[in-house]
Amino acid sequence: MINIIKASASYDAIVIGSGITGGWAAKELCEKGLKTLLLERGRDIHHIKDYPTANLNPWDFEYRLNNTTQELTENPIRSRTSDESDRMFFASDVDHPYIQQKPFNWVRGYQVGGRSLIWGRQCYRLSDLDFEANIKEGISIDWPIRYKDISGWYDYVERFIGVSGKHENLPHLPDGCYQPPMELNCIEKHLASSIKKNEEHRLLTIARVANLTRGWNGRGPCQNRNLCTRGCPYGGYFSSNSATIPAAAATGNLTIRPFSIVREIIYDEKLERATGVRVIDMNTHEELEFNSRIIFVNASTINTAAILLNSKSSRFPNGMGNDSEQLGHNLMDHHSSSGASGVYDGYRDEYYKGRRPCGFLIPRFRNIGNGTQANFLRGYNFQGRGEREGWQERKDSLKGVGSKFKEQLTKPGQWSVWMGGWGECLPYFDNKIALSVNDKDKWGLPLVEVDFSFRENEHLMMEDIKQTGASMLEEAGFKGVNTFSYNTPGGSTVHEMGTARMGNDPKTSVLNKYNQMHAVKNLFVTDGSCMTSSACQNPSLTYMALTARACDYAVSEMKKGNL
Ligand SMILES: Cc1cc2nc3c(=O)[nH]c(=O)nc-3n(C[C@H](O)[C@H](O)[C@H](O)COP(=O)(O)OP(=O)(O)OC[C@H]3O[C@@H](n4cnc5c(N)ncnc54)[C@H](O)[C@@H]3O)c2cc1C
Ligand code: SF4
Repeated sequence: MINIIKASASYDAIVIGSGITGGWAAKELCEKGLKTLLLERGRDIHHIKDYPTANLNPWDFEYRLNNTTQELTENPIRSRTSDESDRMFFASDVDHPYIQQKPFNWVRGYQVGGRSLIWGRQCYRLSDLDFEANIKEGISIDWPIRYKDISGWYDYVERFIGVSGKHENLPHLPDGCYQPPMELNCIEKHLASSIKKNEEHRLLTIARVANLTRGWNGRGPCQNRNLCTRGCPYGGYFSSNSATIPAAAATGNLTIRPFSIVREIIYDEKLERATGVRVIDMNTHEELEFNSRIIFVNASTINTAAILLNSKSSRFPNGMGNDSEQLGHNLMDHHSSSGASGVYDGYRDEYYKGRRPCGFLIPRFRNIGNGTQANFLRGYNFQGRGEREGWQERKDSLKGVGSKFKEQLTKPGQWSVWMGGWGECLPYFDNKIALSVNDKDKWGLPLVEVDFSFRENEHLMMEDIKQTGASMLEEAGFKGVNTFSYNTPGGSTVHEMGTARMGNDPKTSVLNKYNQMHAVKNLFVTDGSCMTSSACQNPSLTYMALTARACDYAVSEMKKGNL
């Protein structure tokens, strides 16, 4: 029999997961006066102190930033997106297995801060084009919110995290509260002016990123090193560790418990409430129980659905809040494996200073109004970068040996541009996660099974991405224009979402318009699992805004005595 230790302390709120959304939930709830327990399955990571590789040079690493054959074989998912410099912030495939019904790259960050330490920091708002798409096209269900419901929360989040970017006055990509933008380089400006001249409805702008261009809230400005995934000693980019968790801790209301794997949420049938959580201590394998008045689930889309599916009771035999049978379904991820590249012969006397930690954006231009219709639904944006080829790109093509060869390598090569399309994925009921009946991890938890594929609409979009990308580069005078479509599996863009969607009708959705579980009023889910459609914008800014909004609602309901 399992010996469950009941923790003596009881809390006003429990937050599960300390990544981008859990950090926000903890900050908001603590600042509103709630004694909050933040439960995190991974180890603790202290800002600055626990960034051991932040200032190392390539030659300081044993394998010069290459992944060894052993790492590539044992950790095929982790090694796709990490190397020696940042591997410590990516979950190991060996320790954390899952079942792929079809290939699916599930990239995870199991530590205090979650994937906020390693994210790409691109921050774009959704618009009513996105919130109204489902209902207008008869796809899936309607979002229960519109842009006006969230715009103030976008402002609130952007002001706190610090987003640099440029206003472009596009209705389908609303402007926000930005620090001064980073600067486009000469080849990007060249492409931007060609697009402006030749393409109606299209423009090229600098990426909107959560990298500071001015010091802010005790964090220093970005130093243009492009080493963000190692952790930033200046606090130049937003992470839970640099911003929300310190803010939560400053209130005196926060307790963080790392190494705490939430196994399930406890439901009291008489009270019709969630009363707490059961946790497995990662190191000792002991089981513990913690109680609270409200619970925020922020373990990230797939893990959140797994916790809820594992939280069974006679009221919820198929998982907590799963009256609609939608829990675990409608899994989405953006596709980003198609695009185009080319080189430009010119601007040989121009260069750039530093390593800007972002590229450019060409906002969505398909299906946004008259004259922009395509043979698929929804749209995509281009994210890309222009740079001069360095010695790494030229070492194989240059001829020669010895000092002359080295001398040639010290000179920069041609300008090149690479751009990939980030495309919307429709919500398909059959794209889903479930819990394995037979297989368990080393803590005795059922393994997650992921069953996901892109369908015809996404593949038509990928073709269009290749063609439009190539034609914009050719129009701008680029040579050697290549298109690519790597057909990488779902999960590769690391924007998984949709497994506990929001909606107005409890029969077809798991959460209401405040991210509150229809069937369990004191339970809130505010990570990507709440998304009713994916749009094509990088999603984390929306998750943060929804989290802050849900916290505000939850605390006001508590004050009214409704929770
Ligand atoms: C390389 C990379 C680049 C990215 N670039 C961008 C970008 O440019 N823009 C963008 O919008 N998004 C980007 N993303 C995606 C972004 O990181 C996620 O959308 C975001 O982190 C989701 O926030 P979250 O709080 O839901 O999950 P996470 O940040 O993953 O946090 C979840 C936390 O929950 C913990 N947890 C999980 N299960 C349990 C459990 N059972 N018990 C206790 N704790 C648990 C985890 O350990 C983790 O700390 C990128 C991701 C990666 C990896
Ligand atoms: S590029 Fe900027 S934000 Fe990223 S690690 Fe360097 S200084 Fe920090």
